[in-house]
This record gives sequence, structure tokens and C-alpha cells, in this order.
Amino acid sequence: MTRRVMVAANWKMHTDAGSARDLASSVLAGLSDELSCEVVLFPPALFVEAVVTLVSGSQSRICSVGGQDLHHEDKGAFTGALAGPQIASTGARWVLVGHSERRHVFGDDDATVGRKLQAAVRAGLTPVLCVGEQLAERDAGESVAVVTRQLEAALDGFPVDQELVVAYEPVWAIGTGRTASPELAQEMHSALRAALGGRDVRILYGGSVKPANAAELMGQPDIDGVLVGGASLQADSFLQIIRAA
Ligand code: PEP
Repeated sequence: MTRRVMVAANWKMHTDAGSARDLASSVLAGLSDELSCEVVLFPPALFVEAVVTLVSGSQSRICSVGGQDLHHEDKGAFTGALAGPQIASTGARWVLVGHSERRHVFGDDDATVGRKLQAAVRAGLTPVLCVGEQLAERDAGESVAVVTRQLEAALDGFPVDQELVVAYEPVWAIGTGRTASPELAQEMHSALRAALGGRDVRILYGGSVKPANAAELMGQPDIDGVLVGGASLQADSFLQIIRAA
């Protein structure tokens, strides 16, 4: 089974209207359709449509765009929230669900993450489901149990034939400069693949991915790409990671 490598950029709450366009344009200028990987940009919601327009105009065949989060309802009185159909209406194809900052800063629990996955599918968006253990859970030897619980809870009732990408992002490695070793990441990816049963799912690694460690991480048999935060905010470093794929 060949799983196409994905390199994804999570810009989080960074960039503004001008710098989001500049960053997307610089990334697109550095892409060539000969690259075999798939590139996905996750700008702040406000700039998703502008980035979709730039990607469409570039005619890149390897780049597409997603939202960083969605509400579990399709519409309604939820001031400030964004619904799946709204994100999809911009031309975005993907949405992150269950990112650790949503889980641990905004309080998204397993049940909410599951509802958001279903909402993404209803809207025609492909979810990138993020899972990952906190440092205390790793120290207690609970890493595999935690990510398996997160995965199983989220996928309860999720159609088996629905496209899905999973991102393993240990919380202790996100934005800390502390990357999981390739061996540790591979061990966790292998456990996640086993928990996914026969599903044909790409599993990305995320957590302080940089140009210097990207190739080794993506060289592991069960690592199908990377989700990049900090190092995706500079076109140069993100393009180096793409080339490492
Ligand atoms: C992320 O936000 O998903 C992430 C992995 O961030 P960083 O690369 O900065 O650790």
C-alpha cells in the first residue's frame, strides 16, 4: 500500500492579512509539481479564502488548504464559531480536529472531538485528527493507552471508508523545541496503525519538526508526513521540510 507523504503547515494564530498572503505566495513559488508529496496549508480561518484563491491561481497540483478547527454544529447561534459548511464554502478541503491546543487550552474533550469529526464529514471536509499524550502521561507509561483512547473515542461511528488523516503530536513536543526521537515516534505510529485496524490512513508526526530532523522522521516506515507549526511560518524552512519529504 503506497501512502502519499503529506507535509502540512499549521500557522495557528500567526500572520495577518498581508503576511498570510505573502507566506502562501512564497511557499507556492517554491513548489514544483514534480514533488511527490502533498502540501496542505492551515492558515487562520480569516485568511483561508485568500490562501485558497492563491493556491487555485498557482495551479499547483500538490497544494491545498484547510481550516484549523470547526464547530460540531452546522449552523446556529454560536457567536465567533465556524461551521464546517462555512469552511468548505471557501474551497478548503481539510480541517484539523482535536489539535492539542484545542483539547488543552479550549477544553475539547474526546466526545467533542468525535462530534467535530462527524461535522467535518457532513461538510465534505477531510479531517486531520490530532492525538497525543502529555508529558505526565508519557512519564507514567500511559502514552499508547492515551492516544489509543483518543483515537477510538473519536472514530466511534466514523465511516470506515471515509478518508481520514491522523496526526500524532506529543503535547510535550509541540512548540517546545523538544522533538520525539524517530524511534519513539515510529513506535507510537506503529501502535496507532495497529489501533486503526485495516483502515488506509496516513499518520503524520507533529512536534518541533525542523529542516534538520524532518528527513529522519519521515524515513520511518509508519510516518507518512509531518504537521509543522513554528517552522512553517518561514517559507524557507517549510520548503526545506517539503524537500526532505
Ligand atoms: C503544531 O502546532 O501542530 C505543531 C506541531 O507545532 P510545532 O511544530 O511548533 O511544534
